[in-house]
Amino acid sequence: MTVALDNNYYNQNSEEQLSQEELNYFKEELERQKEKIETRLKRRIEELNNPDEAKDEGDHASIAIDNLTSNTILREQQRTLSQIKRSLNKIALGTYGICSMCEEKIDIERLKIQMFSEYCVSCRNELDKRS
Ligand SMILES: [Zn+2]
Repeated sequence: MTVALDNNYYNQNSEEQLSQEELNYFKEELERQKEKIETRLKRRIEELNNPDEAKDEGDHASIAIDNLTSNTILREQQRTLSQIKRSLNKIALGTYGICSMCEEKIDIERLKIQMFSEYCVSCRNELDKRS
């Protein structure tokens, strides 16, 4: 009897979606981050395209290294940006906060730390182990 009740409780609990309020919170946060990264990316690209940066021969080496670092950062930010866009898309579709692998709910505390998590903790760990 206790087991049946527990199962019931568990099932109800696992089907529970994020509340509208929680979704709005994540949506606003994601959009804010998206804007921030987009602004930063734009500025960075403008800087990289600005030929005035190369002042004299001696600066070339350090600029090359600078650009290399910038490119890494740019790529990283572009990756984050696409993750954010994917999350926003998921919010629109109503699948946000659901693990892409096992389709279980992702812990809300985890989402708060990393808003564009696509996997729950155990799937993430599995993936990390494999790579
Ligand atoms: Zn999972």
